[in-house]
Amino acid sequence: MAGNWKMNGTGASLDELGSLIDRLQASPVEGADVLVCPPVTLLFLARELLRDSGIALGAQDCNVAASGAHTGDISAEMLADAGAACVIVGHSERRAEHGETSELVAAKAKAAHRAGLTSIICIGETEAERRAGRTLEIVASQLQASLPTGASAANTVIAYEPVWAIGSGLTPSDAEIAEVHGFIRKGLAERLGETESAQVRILYGGSVKPANAASIVAIANVNGALVGGASLTAKDFFAIISAYA
Ligand code: PEP
Repeated sequence: MAGNWKMNGTGASLDELGSLIDRLQASPVEGADVLVCPPVTLLFLARELLRDSGIALGAQDCNVAASGAHTGDISAEMLADAGAACVIVGHSERRAEHGETSELVAAKAKAAHRAGLTSIICIGETEAERRAGRTLEIVASQLQASLPTGASAANTVIAYEPVWAIGSGLTPSDAEIAEVHGFIRKGLAERLGETESAQVRILYGGSVKPANAASIVAIANVNGALVGGASLTAKDFFAIISAYA
């Protein structure tokens, strides 16, 4: 269960992280791996707070290069040094706002693996693409082009995030989520083989809330959730994580 804080959070927001740790220590959720991806400015402080908590730390993007003249960018190696275990790549906000292509996303995922990080590769169709009946076509092409060589169940997580569901309060039906997640599993099998594909975690993301989390994580081939807005509040994120209980 992964929380993506996006460009939200200052030092004061670490109180919410402290509250999440307290809630999970008071009521552990067996079988749920929890990840929080705050903005990069909070990684060092979050690492100290999360020490021995069982909650993993992640980041939201990385550069392809390990170091160099890339003003304002952060490498996967730097994220690992700051305490991150995972990095989100190819979030639709980066694809839309920064023109990131699936080929660049694959290079970022490869950089993450080079640095020992797990990549969380985001894919998903826009509203217009869904209305045009192109969902599976878009998901297939993004998946195949965003998956780098060397990807495995140990270093790669896929997040299916319909762009129209992110931050909108809208979600696909359970049947629609099941269709796309089953399709992604098959697409992974083409690249990685059946056995490896079966082990890859496929997260659903897009307006996951305490009220819908339990039914979403119960859908076949949904192995967790990538949560944006609702991960900013410890109470809500804990309630979502508890969907696994
Ligand atoms: C996201 O940004 O990855 C996301 C799923 O956002 P939200 O939960 O707010 O829809």
